[in-house]
Amino acid sequence: MATILITGGTGYIGSHAAIQLFEQGRFNVVSIDNQLRSSIKALDRIEAISGRRMTNYSIDACDLHAVEEVFEAHPDIVGVIHFAALKAVGESVEHPLFYYRNNLESLVNMLACCEKYHVANFIFSSSCTVYGDIAVEELPVTEKTITTEAASPYGATKLMGERIIQDFIVSTDKVKAIALRYFNPVGAHESGLNGEEPIGRPNNLVPYITMTASGLLEQLTVFGGDYNTRDGSALRDYIHVTDIADAHLLALDYLMEGRNTAPYERFNLGSGNGVTVLEAIAAFEKASGVKLNYRVGDRRPGDVEQIYSDSSLAKEKLGWETKYDINDMMASAWKWQLELNKTKEKQQS
Ligand code: UDP
Repeated sequence: MATILITGGTGYIGSHAAIQLFEQGRFNVVSIDNQLRSSIKALDRIEAISGRRMTNYSIDACDLHAVEEVFEAHPDIVGVIHFAALKAVGESVEHPLFYYRNNLESLVNMLACCEKYHVANFIFSSSCTVYGDIAVEELPVTEKTITTEAASPYGATKLMGERIIQDFIVSTDKVKAIALRYFNPVGAHESGLNGEEPIGRPNNLVPYITMTASGLLEQLTVFGGDYNTRDGSALRDYIHVTDIADAHLLALDYLMEGRNTAPYERFNLGSGNGVTVLEAIAAFEKASGVKLNYRVGDRRPGDVEQIYSDSSLAKEKLGWETKYDINDMMASAWKWQLELNKTKEKQQS
């Protein structure tokens, strides 16, 4: 059976993609993840859901020699999905070199190995952050929307990452690539057995909501109530993690079946619906039946007012259809939080 190598296989999106790859039954899945920001327990969760145990190499993707050993151990690798990256915007401002080194060196290593070991299909986790602060008239963003200077070192690593792939693809006829620009991935596996597990205090909205509702955090601050949106809070395009994972399988097929129209293509992955922070909270309260303790506070520096996607290109070319709406996202995130709480209670007793 051919193998797909994923980096970040124990992370939030990587673990969901691993489940789907195993369930599809066409590939073996091998992962590289150093567990810097994820838990090895994800291997148990993937197995509980898919019935398959993923082999994970706990190495740093920045260690070229170690990565080469993985490729040598698996001569049947036919595709690489490169999820592994640091992703906290605020941390990237404090530690830019850490972000540039980690996110760019790992990417360069994976591309170099694809070329060296004749792996023709490469998928990269990019982000809507490449569009920067977009004027309202330009919404929704399509792949033709001009990318602007990134607002943070994290964003810059995604923009540079896309550029690195572009230059690399021009220089080789051995590798084809796709960059998937995620909007705001949220939610959890519908079983409630796999989801995001932030280490420490979360930065992102949905884990912050579910942890506050569980009493693990005291209160959620809505960052900004004076934006020019329908209720004054910032607007984003939330997309279910399962839908995001689906797109990777479709993108792999698209490349492997030679349906690509260029050696390197980029696709937006969003639902196409803008949801404000206050609407997200209301959806959560409805899905969970829990009243959330929140207050409206100051804007968070670096936040854009609103962004949402036109994902028709991914629909048209990859055949990607989203299956879940904001209510499903919140319901599954809550189910997962309750599961995490149960596990913690067991550990404490
Ligand atoms: N947000 C918020 N309170 C929080 C965390 C996030 O109001 O504690 C808002 C944030 O300002 C943004 C939206 O929720 O408008 C999504 O933020 P997140 O960090 O999840 O993703 P981002 O869009 O920044 O990548």
